[in-house]
Amino acid sequence: MTLDEHVADGHGHAVVIGASLAGLTAARALANFMDRVTVVERDWVPRGAGRRRGVPQARHTHGLTTAAQHGLELLFPGILGELADAGAVVVRMTEDVLLLGPAGWLPRAESNLSSLSASRDLMDALIRDRLRADPKVTFLQQHDAVLLEPGQQDTVTGVWVRGRDRRVPGGWGERRLLVADFVVDATGRASRAPQWLAELGYVPPRDTTVESRTAFATAVFAPPVGHVADWKSLLLTPAPGHPACGMLNPVEGGRWSVSVCSGDGSRPPTDHTGLLRAAGALRDPLLHDVLQAATPLGPVYSCGPSGNRWRHYEKLRRWPDQFLVVGDAVVALDPAHGQGMTVAVHCALVLDQLLAAHGTAVGLGYRVRRAIAHRLSPVWEASTRALRAAHGEQDPRAGGWRARLGRRYAARIAAAAATERAAANLLLQQLQNAAAPSAALRPAVVRAALRGPRAPVAAGPPSSTHGPNTARIARRQTGRPDTPPLREHPHGQPAVGTGVALHRPSSSPTIR
Ligand SMILES: Cc1cc2nc3c(=O)[nH]c(=O)nc-3n(C[C@H](O)[C@H](O)[C@H](O)COP(=O)(O)OP(=O)(O)OC[C@H]3O[C@@H](n4cnc5c(N)ncnc54)[C@H](O)[C@@H]3O)c2cc1C
Repeated sequence: MTLDEHVADGHGHAVVIGASLAGLTAARALANFMDRVTVVERDWVPRGAGRRRGVPQARHTHGLTTAAQHGLELLFPGILGELADAGAVVVRMTEDVLLLGPAGWLPRAESNLSSLSASRDLMDALIRDRLRADPKVTFLQQHDAVLLEPGQQDTVTGVWVRGRDRRVPGGWGERRLLVADFVVDATGRASRAPQWLAELGYVPPRDTTVESRTAFATAVFAPPVGHVADWKSLLLTPAPGHPACGMLNPVEGGRWSVSVCSGDGSRPPTDHTGLLRAAGALRDPLLHDVLQAATPLGPVYSCGPSGNRWRHYEKLRRWPDQFLVVGDAVVALDPAHGQGMTVAVHCALVLDQLLAAHGTAVGLGYRVRRAIAHRLSPVWEASTRALRAAHGEQDPRAGGWRARLGRRYAARIAAAAATERAAANLLLQQLQNAAAPSAALRPAVVRAALRGPRAPVAAGPPSSTHGPNTARIARRQTGRPDTPPLREHPHGQPAVGTGVALHRPSSSPTIR
């Protein structure tokens, strides 16, 4: 479709700027109500799971929280099944995870939380395919949105875009107006909406920011030949005095996406020697030992700290109706908390609900801005609390007596989590930023915190296949002294429920 066709009339036409997760999910919500939706994307928009320069973070390990899974399924019914068919893996917490919490390994138990693990390229590709199948939705790739077109009485009537043109200096062609009745900015952290608003004479929003010291290094691996494990995923969280963390997530094709995060502002490793060294410096040698036998399938990608930023659009009194900002462009959370896609899905659900209730009547922009702020507030609070707690752990005097008391209570909950279900569940909820602040005061959690762990905390991971407890747990599970029958898993995927110790960890890692 040519640009002129897009420009044709503009009646019932929504333009979404940005074709990453916030833009794709917003386009889905809008397509239910508008005549047409055009998704403008500066980068190329591949068919299938192609890598995009516009989403560099896609190289890093991504998991979809339980809340985001539910929301995505509401927006795109059947999408979770399609993702699973394409190789995405549901990781149940903690049945499928060896999770080293702040004070020890968490027991393997049922909870109602899971993380959906796949490469980010695959997730975006399947969602894009769904939208492509909708005749109302069109992608306008290689087009950069540069400015809003103002209408009368605080409205916008379109977006100025310029197409990529390598023949001209700067690489972009002339500006053209894309007429629209509703415009959504989903351009991520680098969103220029504040400048666009200022150019139209509006007051730009105030930002709240909380800095982070966490940098990431990620690489994809093939598991060792014959790898058998009773887990699918590894997660080694930070702890007081140990700000680094590591994770191994299964992704499509039987591969592992592995990230190691510094938490002290240090530069992330940029090669495999450095990545292995960083894994060896974690609180437990498990990730290092597993990686030592795995085969790297590509380079190590790194990315620096980013932190939390909230652009308070909901506080602005004057605002162009029919304009909206969603996703990272409004609330960007520290990647260490794995919430960015949840934010995007929440924004789309709010838009969907308010369009269903009020249509595109005057005042929609105001309602949606307020409702998005309300919906994102708990996840922002939880993520910000976690960042401040991490800062406090590095500086024990930070935050005054209340903060110190809070940290001591959190430490007791973390210690109790090794044997107390209520405390372990709270830690899991906090990992997904799904716990209200009052959750820490539930009677069962308070009892667990006061009582502490009921038994000595296990020195190694609760696994019959990995770690120093391997032989003991295998004997307990099988009733036999050693080597229970081997169960191969199809496609080389980590097997669940096998009791075989094919991988023996080094008692002291080679690189520490
Ligand atoms: C290391 C790391 C790990 C992460 N892990 C997780 C995780 O496990 N779970 C999770 O939920 N989140 C995770 N995130 C966060 C997640 O990647 C982001 O929150 C999410 O991608 C934000 O989506 P978005 O659509 O708002 O913005 P983006 O993904 O940033 O997309 C913005 C899009 O807009 C386009 N664009 C920009 N400007 C223009 C313009 N002027 N005109 C046209 N198009 C434009 C860009 O090309 C891009 O396609 C992680 C992030 C990082 C950095």
